[in-house]
Amino acid sequence: MNASATLKKFGIEQAMKYLYKEPEKNMRILMDWADKFCKGEFPSQRKAIRHAIENPEDPYYHYIRHMIRDVDHEVLSAVAVNFFINANLVGWPIQEENRKKHHCNIPWAILLDPTSACNLHCTGCWAAEYGNKLNLTFDEIDNIIQQGKELGIYMYIYTGGEPLVRKADLIKLCEKHNDCVFLSFTNGTLIDEKFADEMLRVKNFVPAISLEGNEAATDGRRGSGVFGKATHAMELLHERKLLYGISSCYTSANYKSITSDEYYQSLIDMGAYFIWYFHYMPVGNDAAPELLPNPEQREYVYHRIRELRMTRPLFAMDFQNDAEFVGGCIAGGKRYLHINANGDVDPCVFIHYSNANIRECTLLEALKSPIFMAYHDNMPFNDNMLRPCPMLENPKCIEEMVKKTGAHSTDPMSPESVEHLCAKTCDYAENWKAAADRLWEESLERKPGLAHKAEDERKRTY
Ligand code: SF4
Repeated sequence: MNASATLKKFGIEQAMKYLYKEPEKNMRILMDWADKFCKGEFPSQRKAIRHAIENPEDPYYHYIRHMIRDVDHEVLSAVAVNFFINANLVGWPIQEENRKKHHCNIPWAILLDPTSACNLHCTGCWAAEYGNKLNLTFDEIDNIIQQGKELGIYMYIYTGGEPLVRKADLIKLCEKHNDCVFLSFTNGTLIDEKFADEMLRVKNFVPAISLEGNEAATDGRRGSGVFGKATHAMELLHERKLLYGISSCYTSANYKSITSDEYYQSLIDMGAYFIWYFHYMPVGNDAAPELLPNPEQREYVYHRIRELRMTRPLFAMDFQNDAEFVGGCIAGGKRYLHINANGDVDPCVFIHYSNANIRECTLLEALKSPIFMAYHDNMPFNDNMLRPCPMLENPKCIEEMVKKTGAHSTDPMSPESVEHLCAKTCDYAENWKAAADRLWEESLERKPGLAHKAEDERKRTY
């Protein structure tokens, strides 16, 4: 870490100590310092934080105090330093430098599957069936992180399989790379007292527990008793004052229940700090396209998550409908990539076509591989950021990219042709277009600056 990074880290550590001495008074003083220090940068974010700090009617007024009061001080400091300083203030300029130097995308985060194994047998998931045949070894994951840090990447997100099948290795990686943030999607059932204690010790591991909705919905898909085990895990995390969130997928079948007041409030009551919503993706030969939300259903979710985010003290992200905040599709290494348990480097966690395997090439070589360069050269796939995806909303794009680059399917169980994949989203894309264009126009009227976002993003990353 260079001198300026060390100073920044030291600054945030001191700021956290100062905050905890007298939170009510000192958070306002720290905000005054942030306004001076930022010199005009991040104006809307700073305005929103100040509003939340100072106005009891703001939904995040209580949320911020809940975090300061209920998250272990050392855990919050470690995550704040690793996320704000290392992954952003330190990491971003290194990523930018490497983007310019190498003329390819350099991501902000790496998603990786430590294993294809899972301890559950969820409907529609192949992981348990495929068992533990595929694993990235400890040394392979360690090597990916070391390569990533050289490129400025300090954010690592585990997907799977069930990542916690490898929980001993994941803790060792947290220890070894204590300057990174590790977030893990998990079914939560392998979080026991011992693991929660280990999380508290290493401080830089944040789980996002998958729920399908209430007990009946979760157990219906994941198996009897899974909801109880997941909520028990949350109790263990809560007792140790750890940071955790939820991930939920919305479909045509559950879009109302999963965004209902009751469900949202139950997560607040369980002490979750964030929820990450995902749009159902009909990926794989056995996918069920009838679970794709229709335009009315997706529009309902679009409004509903925005409303919940602005009125309730639980931070919600909507992976598909929030593309406007990140300049469209973030895959292909633009902001992230995905490495599966076989080492295949995929452009997206949902798009399993690749020309590169991390066992045969470096991370940088994978970022320069044909499908990644096709993403780099063709982004954004649509100027309407409510139609960001080359597969879901612009299926011709992924079909052309895969055919042109010769990328092969990396699905370990049942390789799917790109024509088969795109046939499931053609009607969806066509049907969504009118609603998406209307919503986008309305967004532009509210925030005219959005019109240039896609172009700006394109320039930022060549
Ligand atoms: S490829 Fe599609 S699903 Fe993946 S990040 Fe881009 S928009 Fe999202």
